[in-house]
Amino acid sequence: MEAPVINVGIMTEKAVSFTFHGEYVHTETGNFLSGEQRVIYVNGNIVFNGKLYKEIFFEPTSVSAFFELKAVTIGVNFHWQRQEDQRFKGSLNLVVTDKGIMFINQVDAEEYLTSVISSEMSANASRELLKAHAVISRSWLLAQVEKNFKSNGPKKQHPNVYRDNQQLIRWYDHEDHEYFDVCADDHCQRYQGITRASSLTIKEVIQETRGEILTDGESICDTRFSKCCGGITEQFEYCWEPVPHPYLAALRDSRENTFPDLTVEAEADKWIRTSPEAFCNTTDKAILSQILNNYDQETTDFYRWQVSYTQKELAELIYRKSGINFGEILDLIPLSRGTSGRIEKLKIVGTHQTFIIGKELEIRRTLSETHLYSSAFVVDKEDIYFDIPQRFVLTGAGWGHGVGLCQIGAAVMGEQGYNYRQILSHYFPGTEIEKRY
Ligand SMILES: [Zn+2]
Ligand SMILES: [Zn+2]
Repeated sequence: MEAPVINVGIMTEKAVSFTFHGEYVHTETGNFLSGEQRVIYVNGNIVFNGKLYKEIFFEPTSVSAFFELKAVTIGVNFHWQRQEDQRFKGSLNLVVTDKGIMFINQVDAEEYLTSVISSEMSANASRELLKAHAVISRSWLLAQVEKNFKSNGPKKQHPNVYRDNQQLIRWYDHEDHEYFDVCADDHCQRYQGITRASSLTIKEVIQETRGEILTDGESICDTRFSKCCGGITEQFEYCWEPVPHPYLAALRDSRENTFPDLTVEAEADKWIRTSPEAFCNTTDKAILSQILNNYDQETTDFYRWQVSYTQKELAELIYRKSGINFGEILDLIPLSRGTSGRIEKLKIVGTHQTFIIGKELEIRRTLSETHLYSSAFVVDKEDIYFDIPQRFVLTGAGWGHGVGLCQIGAAVMGEQGYNYRQILSHYFPGTEIEKRY
């Protein structure tokens, strides 16, 4: 069986120059094209070679042909946002939307995955780690395609925000796209076509796992991953909508499989303040550089970390981030924790007001200029002066949401000789690898 063709949304612009390297055919007119082309958005139409269109489809006439788009914006809303010329294999589909002309690349799923794994992973990573990631990315990709195929597929069962005058509980999950399966930016998975050459190792890893996805016996698994679980993985429901996913459960990230119940405050406190043995409890530079892109600039204190704020810093930060004036902060009280010790609901007590926030990402955004490493932390109040702490020290565990595969732990497993099947069945218990094509 052939790999499916997927639709990747590259960008939406009002006027674009692009180049066909090799020959493409404009399917409506049957005209063969190569070299530089230009399209402009005018009054809800695409203007191309003096004619108006609502949609245009260009197909390559050979496998070596590719097209090049000028000035594609990458890293939208990230500090490194910039523009770059990008090259893509496969077909080019232009569609009119109310914002301009949407550029969609139709490409073979395996071609797409080669590009994605090349931009997300270091080619120096162990083969088994790369293979595990290839299966995860492919599972996620085919699940998106399947969702789009079932046009009346399952709607979200729960609204993702709950607010009243005592609390704000919200979570952030992937929104589905309307015109295509996946976008090319970090919202989905970063995809830059063939702009950068893929290493031989990555091509081989994609080939060796060709068509392989993870299933729970019924459907394709929702293969979440994060940087470091902190020793025990988080259960899906504590981070996103309250729908059980049996293979996204709590597990000890170690050969050991006994672990404390971190939903109990005293157990979480003890766990977070110590540094128990775990696959992801490592400071091995060679392993960390496989996962952390800018390893030299990044801290290695992620298994256990500490952040400290003065009263003034914390009060101003929370006010700015939440829009709520708590006055001076008296306490930060965990009301509920997930299986990894991540706080699901946090009560902020101030001199003016008390309010509860959740879930983990909302907490991480509120208590940091960027993002706190994780919401698995304990709070120490220091220099208490007339009942008001002058300093708050947060001691935490792990990096990211902690659900599913722990990237640092998986990198260590790969180095220790586990194969990708063992890595995947460790992090996604009860699942199996199925070859779809
Ligand atoms: Zn997206
Ligand atoms: Zn871990």
